[in-house]
Amino acid sequence: MSKIPVSIAIDGPAGAGKSTVAKLTARKTGYIYVDTGAMYRAMALFLIRRGIGAEDAEAISRVSQEADISIEYRDGEQVVLLDGENVNAFLRTEEVGKMASASSVNADLRRKLVELQQELGARTSVVMDGRDIGTVVLPHAAVKIFLTASVEERAMRRFKELQAKGEPADLDTIAKDIEERDYRDSHRAVSPLKQAEDAILIDSSKMTAEEVAEQILAIWQQVMDQEKEKG
Ligand code: C5P
Repeated sequence: MSKIPVSIAIDGPAGAGKSTVAKLTARKTGYIYVDTGAMYRAMALFLIRRGIGAEDAEAISRVSQEADISIEYRDGEQVVLLDGENVNAFLRTEEVGKMASASSVNADLRRKLVELQQELGARTSVVMDGRDIGTVVLPHAAVKIFLTASVEERAMRRFKELQAKGEPADLDTIAKDIEERDYRDSHRAVSPLKQAEDAILIDSSKMTAEEVAEQILAIWQQVMDQEKEKG
C-alpha cells in the first residue's frame, strides 16, 4: 500500500447497496471501510437519549457538539463508540434511522462529523460510504462512485431484509419511506445528496454486490496504474 492514503468514495441513496459493496471493496483493496451513516446514526442515538426532538434545530446544533463519537476496528468490523460505549447494536432501528435522516440536515452537527471523517481519511486509506463523501468530505478521493438503484429494487431489498429478520414489513410503506428519505437527503440545504461531477455512476438495480465491487476494483486499478506511470 502506498504511503500517501488513498480514498475510495461511495455515495448514493439509502438501499443502493453501498455498505455491502464498500465492505467487499475494502476487503479486496486492504483499505479500511468507514460507514459514515453509522456515525450519523450514533449521533441520532445520542440526541434521542438526551431527549432532543428532531425539530429542535437549536438544541441539535448545541447538544451535538457534546457527543464524543469515535470509530474503532475490532476483528475487521467497524465499532462506533459513543462516549466510549459500543453502540453498534442500537443503530439499525427505524427510530434511530429516522432521527439520523432528520438531524443530518443540521449544519453544526454535520461539521462535527465531517471533521472526524476527514481525519480518518487523512490518516489511512479508506473506502468511505455516505451521501457527501465525494462532494464534501473527500473531494480529492482517487475514486468516486455514485451508486444508485431504482426505488422498487431498493424497497424489495429492504423488504427481504426485514422478512429474513422476522420483522413486519409492507412493501408499499417501505417504498414510500425510501422516496421520502431520498427527497430529504437530496433537497437539504447543507451537503445534499448529489453526484460529484467527477464521480462514476453505477446503477446496481440489475447487478449483484460482487459485480459492482468488481467494477469499482477495475476503476481503482486503472487509477493506481495511472498514478504509478506518473511516478
Ligand atoms: O446510510 P444510513 O442509512 O446509515 O444513513 C443514515 C442517515 O444519515 C441518512 O438518512 C442520511 O440522512 C444521513 N447521512 C448523511 N450523510 C452521510 C451519511 C449518512 O447525511 N455521509
